[in-house]
Amino acid sequence: LNRSKPEQVINRDNLPAYKVRSQLVKLINENQVTIVIGETGSGKTTQLPQILYEEGYHHNGMIGITQPRRMAAISVAKRVSEEMNVKIGENVGFTVRFNDFTSDLTEVKFMTDGVLLRETLNDSDLNKYSCVIMDEAHERSLNTDILFGIFKKLLTKRRDFKLIITSATMNSAKFSRFFNNAVQFKIPGKTYPVDIMFQSIPSADYIDSAVKQALKIHLSNPFQAGNSGDILIFMTGQEDIEVTCQLIEEELNELMKLNEEIAELDILPVYSSLSAHLQSKIFQDSKNRKCMVATNIAETSLTLKNVKFVIDSGLMKLKVYNPKLNMDSLQIVPISKAQASQRSGRAGRTCPGQSFRLYTLSSFENEMWDEPIPEIQRSNLMNTILLLKNLNISDINKFKFIDKPSTESIETSQYELWSIGALDNFGSLTSLGRSMSQFPIDPLLSKMLIISNFKKFSCTAEIVRIVAMLSVPNIFIRSRNDANLQKKSDKIRENFQIGESDHLTLLNIFNQFYNIKSTSKNSEEAWCNKNYFNYKSLKSATDIHDQILQLVTKNLKRGEKITSCYDDWEIIKECICASFYSNAAEFYKHGQYKHCRSGLEMYLHPTSSLNGIGDLPKYVVFHELLLTGQKQHMNYVTAIR
Ligand code: ADP
Ligand code: MG
Repeated sequence: LNRSKPEQVINRDNLPAYKVRSQLVKLINENQVTIVIGETGSGKTTQLPQILYEEGYHHNGMIGITQPRRMAAISVAKRVSEEMNVKIGENVGFTVRFNDFTSDLTEVKFMTDGVLLRETLNDSDLNKYSCVIMDEAHERSLNTDILFGIFKKLLTKRRDFKLIITSATMNSAKFSRFFNNAVQFKIPGKTYPVDIMFQSIPSADYIDSAVKQALKIHLSNPFQAGNSGDILIFMTGQEDIEVTCQLIEEELNELMKLNEEIAELDILPVYSSLSAHLQSKIFQDSKNRKCMVATNIAETSLTLKNVKFVIDSGLMKLKVYNPKLNMDSLQIVPISKAQASQRSGRAGRTCPGQSFRLYTLSSFENEMWDEPIPEIQRSNLMNTILLLKNLNISDINKFKFIDKPSTESIETSQYELWSIGALDNFGSLTSLGRSMSQFPIDPLLSKMLIISNFKKFSCTAEIVRIVAMLSVPNIFIRSRNDANLQKKSDKIRENFQIGESDHLTLLNIFNQFYNIKSTSKNSEEAWCNKNYFNYKSLKSATDIHDQILQLVTKNLKRGEKITSCYDDWEIIKECICASFYSNAAEFYKHGQYKHCRSGLEMYLHPTSSLNGIGDLPKYVVFHELLLTGQKQHMNYVTAIR
């Protein structure tokens, strides 16, 4: 490799991780497992893979780096390929679900932890890799936790294999204990003090408070390009990030009309489904102050330069599993104290900073856990159990968990897998269960894919399209507060609705989008904008469609073909109901249903095609539950006849 150019891209010598290069190399060479702890921005993610590369680890297999988040995996892969002066997808590549950017040349591979976990299905010893860096392990994602248990066994089998775990300070001692007191190395690094301000009274509306605080900071602190002085706001998710950005912009424009001396602000959203163009903007220098509005992705996994002011809503969006209902739902919950301190810390990277917490000291002390609850203890385990059974771990209770999930959730998940036919009476995988685990999607969706090819249904071509549409973020754009816009988009959506079924509506939209035989991206995009559909989601649904179709084809038995019912709506509905009967709900009162199994009250989602119907069907099945405000909404509903 031509390594002459990197210095032009970045001065590595100044990064704390690079400064301790020789110590790190010695430790890694001498130990099978090394835990590396360092502040955000110290160079763990970008430098460790390069250091291993320079030491020749790629000669014995790939250097793998896992990330809990998709966006982080992609963005750091790009960064490292730039620093190494190679084309992304060649020597340095990345793989995330439904998106593989690697080739035969790939020696340094970034991926989500979920991707590596699935690779263990075909190669349980990970023979393709000479070493794996598990980055951001402190996040304790479900997949990271399962990988830990798998590595525990793998390390005794492959003495040549190196495991490097990087972590913020939290959890590092626990990792060390789990891997027989593995060596811990702390990258020395300088951080600056951060002043922490709490609210004296709880704020009524955290978005409103954040907007006011951001403008106050901007107006009262002069900004010089190149100096630290950027603002970073932590919000819960895409929706409130967009509202926050919009409000800041509106209020700033008003202020600028009144006072010409007020400088502009680059207002930048940061969340994982962001377009590549907007993503790159957050790392580019600007002549204006940046105000970045982010999810907890900016806590540790993305390093944002020049931040001096942090505004922390104290909240995050979290998937929480309720084993009584056997259902996940997204909820907005308080962050932990450890996360609050990570968030504040982002203000002190390059100079002393300030952190404005939009909550009171008393909420901090009384309402926040010390550390986040690991995902494995608040998740549906159906997928995990399918995977472990595939790895011939028959007794889940004997698996080496770093923190064990509750017996209740293990049992409920096993029961659910049995009830959909994935496990037999002895808890072993059935052939249906084995087929299901070939698909990197929710078990109910993979079951639907498989049974759609049964003779009775024969509608796989259509179901693949529906599954693709169910695997991307919200297709429908509906204004949150503008009633006129809401009406307009609702009216347009009606044109696409089919047969008391959102699933069929999705299929119809997919078909129309797929058939726009245009060579230009612009007309596809214009069609989406006109109809209030999310272009990026639809585009990615078509990519996912192609990949699922490939997987389905690969898993066909000899002589089998992919079936189609040529849009016979009734058959498709039957197939959906046969797969999602555990999510059946009974009509209760206007716009409201009750979950048949639990009695939980749930509402039709505002974008559901059933909203316009006078006489609502007595029974429906739904794809998922979304908690909006205090209400549980059924997202994507199909009537049962
Ligand atoms: P860590 O993993 O320890 O948090 P990183 O390796 O991500 O640290 O970052 C090291 C340095 O590289 C940081 O100073 C950061 O500013 C810079 N950096 C990382 N990613 C990018 C990027 N995509 N664009 C520009 N600079 C980056
Ligand atoms: Mg990192």
